[in-house]
Amino acid sequence: LQGEVLINEPLARHTTWRIGGPADLLARPETGEEIDFCLGFARQKGLPLHIMGNGSNLLVRDGGVRGLVVQTRAWRRVLVQGRVIRACAGALIARVLDVAGRAGLGGLEFAAGIPATIGGAVVMNAGTQEGCLGDIVRGVEVITPDGSRYYLERRDITFSYRFSSLRQEGTVVAVDLAMTASDPRVIQERVRKNLEGRRARQPLEWPNAGSVFKNPAGYYAGQLIEEVGAKGWRAGQAQVSTKHANFIINLGRATAADVLELIARIQEAVARAFGINLELEVEVWG
Ligand code: FAD
Repeated sequence: LQGEVLINEPLARHTTWRIGGPADLLARPETGEEIDFCLGFARQKGLPLHIMGNGSNLLVRDGGVRGLVVQTRAWRRVLVQGRVIRACAGALIARVLDVAGRAGLGGLEFAAGIPATIGGAVVMNAGTQEGCLGDIVRGVEVITPDGSRYYLERRDITFSYRFSSLRQEGTVVAVDLAMTASDPRVIQERVRKNLEGRRARQPLEWPNAGSVFKNPAGYYAGQLIEEVGAKGWRAGQAQVSTKHANFIINLGRATAADVLELIARIQEAVARAFGINLELEVEVWG
């Protein structure tokens, strides 16, 4: 491998929450062939396989994860083909937006400020009130657990709120986005506004993983959490943000156990007050 392979690597170094115990092995492939190699290696050795994008939606337990973590971030080529953008799975949204903006291709501005890889964002169907990845996906290249590679057209993928059927398909290696011709200045202005809005609403000065809970149908999780008085609650070095109640921030040395304790307290309080079960948006590993 040209890319790195790290042994017993603390995942706290690779998640936006800066929390998480070690992975037995962490590989950072740089090309499609290297991804194939890593997946084949895990298969041959019977190792549990975990695909990580930018680690912006992950709570890794303090004991870490066994097996091989493949981090896609070093595999980040972005190509413009007419009105289609083809991005390798590890390209960050910010980079795809940058390429799109310079090429005068609009449609992804809603995602400005989501600190995700395009692969992670498509698999989670990341989005905002303004749109979600599923709206602009044209097709996706995947590698199945048994190692075959194929192309899925948009019509063969189901997208719904923070969900896509891609989860069951395997590893996303590249994504084609159907963009629309647009004035680069208009794109830039939309991106700027969205970033500004996020800075005003979200506690971005602290390590976090975005919204911790999904919005239950008809409600905002943040509002329910605020109404039970949970803003500012602390467990160890984890705190419910006073700026945005659906964010839990890491004040420095928070552990996964601290965050899980806050999660449990919030779920209990919201269930007691409103009879609503808050579901996790973040994914727990280990
Ligand atoms: P990871 O967190 O690394 O992985 C998430 C899941 O995707 C895991 O199950 C992983 O196995 C899987 N995965 C990743 N890459 C691949 C791949 N190539 N193939 C197969 N599976 C893969 N989310 C929103 O939807 N909207 C927002 O507005 C938003 N705002 C955020 C703001 C902040 C400050 C932060 C920290 C997070 C925010 N998020 C938001 C959450 C997060 O960015 C998204 O869920 C994003 O889709 C995660 O992408 P990732 O690359 O970091 O994936």
